[in-house]
Formats: sequence, structure tokens, C-alpha cells
Amino acid sequence: MAVQRQVLGLLAEVRVESGAALLLISHDLAVVAQVCERVLVMYAGLIVENLPVTELLDGAAHPYTRALVGAAPTMTTDPGTELATIPGRPPEPGETGAGCPFASRCERARERCHDDAPGLTDLGPGRQVACWYPVRPAAATSHTTEATS
Ligand code: SF4
Repeated sequence: MAVQRQVLGLLAEVRVESGAALLLISHDLAVVAQVCERVLVMYAGLIVENLPVTELLDGAAHPYTRALVGAAPTMTTDPGTELATIPGRPPEPGETGAGCPFASRCERARERCHDDAPGLTDLGPGRQVACWYPVRPAAATSHTTEATS
């Protein structure tokens, strides 16, 4: 942890000094929350959600993003607590069919999800999601008629 903190601090210094952008690829949501301004969540090689980091923990719209957040321990998680998991497994390369690649693992999946892959769609300023039934219908645009909370 100390080494990780040092490395992240160094990266932040270099970024500020150089004025360069930093692209960080990580499964560690704590690191993402600490370092990043914008988050692109990927599943099966595709971007499924694009959102500001300030909305990652409480405002994600894609079921996969929400499942990731739900599976991550927090500062208040009892060490003896069994963490949530996402059932099933990700598809192998070339294994995805015509539908949403997350459909077999998604608790919000409906018939359409298995037949038709959603594209990345605007969900409001600075927000995009690839889901027919995103979790935040109030902010959705083209998907609002089918979304539920
Ligand atoms: S399109 Fe359907 S299966 Fe895919 S994430 Fe959204 S609700 Fe789940």
C-alpha cells in the first residue's frame, strides 16, 4: 500500500508538471476514485459506461458498473464479511453473440438484451451508457421509455 501510494503520488506529480493526460487501467476502484477524473468502464472489450468519477460510487447507470461497485470493499466493510460477487463469467473473445455481452450475468436483462446489443448512448452531460435498461432513468435520453429504476 505504501509503495502504491508513492507510485500514484509520483504519477500525479509528473502529470501536473508535464501537463499531460494520464490514462490509468485498473480494477482497483479505490485507486480509480483517488486518481481519476473520468471513468470508462469496459466489459468484454467494450466501453459500457463513461462517467465522471464523482458519480461512480452512487450514480452508475450500467448494471455491470453497479455490480463492480457493489463487489468492492469499503473502509467500513467488516473484514469477515463475504463480499458480493457477479455470478457467471465474462465471455471469451469471440464468444459474444448478437446481444448485450453482459446479458447472461445481468439481473436486469430482458428478452431484448439477448438479441440486440446496445450501443453507447448519451445519458446526460458527460455521461454515456451501453444498456437498454440503465438504472438511472431520470437522466436517460433515448432509453427512458424502457428503463425502470
Ligand atoms: S442491455 Fe440488458 S443485459 Fe445488458 S446491461 Fe443493460 S439491462 Fe443488462
